[in-house]
Amino acid sequence: MIEDLNTGETMKRAVIIGMGFGGLRTARALAGKGVDVLVIDRRNYHLFQPLLYQVATASLEQESIAYPIRAVIRGWKGVDFRLAEVTGVDLNARRVQLADGSVEYDYLVVAAGSATHFFGMNSIQKHAHEMKQLSHAVRLRNHILDIFERATQESDPEKRRAILTFVIVGGGPTGVEFAGALHELIRDELTRDYPSLSVAETRIVLIEARDTLLPALPEKLRRYALRQLERMGIEVLLNTQVRGADPEQVLLADGSSLPAHTIVWSAGVQAAPLAASLELPKAANGRIPVQPDLSIAAHPEVFVIGDMAFLEQDGYGGRRPHPSGIVTRDPWPPSAAARR
Ligand SMILES: Cc1cc2nc3c(=O)[nH]c(=O)nc-3n(C[C@H](O)[C@H](O)[C@H](O)COP(=O)(O)OP(=O)(O)OC[C@H]3O[C@@H](n4cnc5c(N)ncnc54)[C@H](O)[C@@H]3O)c2cc1C
Repeated sequence: MIEDLNTGETMKRAVIIGMGFGGLRTARALAGKGVDVLVIDRRNYHLFQPLLYQVATASLEQESIAYPIRAVIRGWKGVDFRLAEVTGVDLNARRVQLADGSVEYDYLVVAAGSATHFFGMNSIQKHAHEMKQLSHAVRLRNHILDIFERATQESDPEKRRAILTFVIVGGGPTGVEFAGALHELIRDELTRDYPSLSVAETRIVLIEARDTLLPALPEKLRRYALRQLERMGIEVLLNTQVRGADPEQVLLADGSSLPAHTIVWSAGVQAAPLAASLELPKAANGRIPVQPDLSIAAHPEVFVIGDMAFLEQDGYGGRRPHPSGIVTRDPWPPSAAARR
């Protein structure tokens, strides 16, 4: 608790770990409510993750999707920010441990998000591009532009084809959106900026282990998405598993391989590494089970929200975990499937 210098009253301190979608909405909701709010993030900017693929395909500058946290909270009464890496939480002492100190709390909101899940496949982790952070999107954009340059220098048609083959693994929203955006980049920019290359030499392959794309969407929309991608010339391989990669090929579980110099991994997410350091039970993909009000059963003063939280409820054709976006209550409407 701290003393309000204006009124002399003591105020409870709420610490929010993470200024992503969950943290931002919580801080905004608590602003001016007589609570001392401290937001901690290791980045000094809020990242609009859904547009990372636009940065990766050079259709948006990185500044367009990253906004300074101090500018976001300017004018939010009682809300302060600290730039720091959270390394752990002492739940009994109600203390957040930072790389450079510690902070005490009365209430804690853990909103540290998620990380890419490579399912223990080291070669994929080493060679694939992921898309969770701004640096990932910028790296992928630079790689794609570099690929086009490299292709112009290659005269062997087979090698050139491999250089210009882009494999995207994971047929969820990120994989589907990225495949479409990459197609547009190649169709609209490649032909103009690289006259010696032809669109026909490029290949985009979208690989999905399940028998459908976008499993959270209704059947009609799934079929529509598949049709649209195929109409664009994107090869969609369903029921196909990837088991490894090296810089020049993607290895499939059936023993075959695809010559490709680019692999983008959008096939799995897990709770952010901070979750593992919390002495709390874990559910699938390291997410933390929460009560329907997002609090922790053994620590009612602690809330876990967003991608880190695991909440199962009836109503989606059985007892199933909420998609993370709904636990976050972030700015996107829930999918039609989730609203049912
Ligand atoms: C490419 C892509 C596209 C997406 N598209 C959509 C979409 O169209 N619709 C939709 O609903 N959802 C979409 N999502 C998912 C959506 O972005 C997430 O569900 C949402 O961001 C989760 O919010 P969050 O607050 O849990 O975590 P995040 O928004 O990830 O925020 C976590 C914050 O915690 C900070 N942090 C993490 N660890 C620490 C630590 N140890 N110390 C300090 N700070 C830390 C991070 O820096 C970050 O700022 C997309 C995600 C991606 C990657």
